[in-house]
Amino acid sequence: MRKPIIAGNWKMYKSFDEAVDFIEEIQQEIPSTDKVDAVICAPALYLPTLVVGAEDSSLAIGAQNMHFEDEGAFTGEISPKMLSNVNVDYVILGHSERRELFNETDEAINKKVRAALNYGIVPIICCGETLEEREAGQTEAKVARQITKALKDFAPIEVEHMVIAYEPIWAIGTGKTATAEDANTVCCAIRLAVETLYGKDTAEKVRIQYGGSVKPENIEELLSQEHIDGALVGGASLQPASFMKLLEAA
Ligand code: 13P
Repeated sequence: MRKPIIAGNWKMYKSFDEAVDFIEEIQQEIPSTDKVDAVICAPALYLPTLVVGAEDSSLAIGAQNMHFEDEGAFTGEISPKMLSNVNVDYVILGHSERRELFNETDEAINKKVRAALNYGIVPIICCGETLEEREAGQTEAKVARQITKALKDFAPIEVEHMVIAYEPIWAIGTGKTATAEDANTVCCAIRLAVETLYGKDTAEKVRIQYGGSVKPENIEELLSQEHIDGALVGGASLQPASFMKLLEAA
């Protein structure tokens, strides 16, 4: 039985005060980690403060991106070592916005996954197709290719602890969700890609989230699917009340 994982991706939203207030408001209400893993992936500037703010609760704090090198002349970047220094537990890697707007490649994502594991940070590895790819029937091949490249050269024991997020690009921030059945079919294809690389036992343990217009009204149906083990949520993670509803559904 895979434990559900609900992660909020705040993207480039919220003032510092709003972020602090959000964590303060919900931290005592977060369900136990026996039941669900709850994560907020916040803007990098806020991470150390939020980690301290969530210290006494079951809420984990994550970053939305990082470099793969420990240090160096990379102006504007943040390293896995730095995230680990301030006790960040998760990092989103390869989000479609980073792939499309910041030219992030599969090779860079693979290096970032390796770097995250070296520092004990759980990677949430994103994949997903465009509308044109979906209409051309290329969805499963596309996500399998992305995941095969991101997961290149690990040991099965490392892969077990990774989280994969299937986010169809056309469903992000659009109000359009994949049907629960379609999302499940693609998550199943992702699991098969993991199985091809690392065997059935490992593939059965990896948690796969769905993301793309997830909200309190549709999360239960999505989570009821065999291969969907959680959600990566943008818009509906920005308000404490709706984030709490998502956790309660898990
Ligand atoms: P929305 O939930 O706002 O569609 O965003 C999804 C997403 O990109 C999460 O990473």
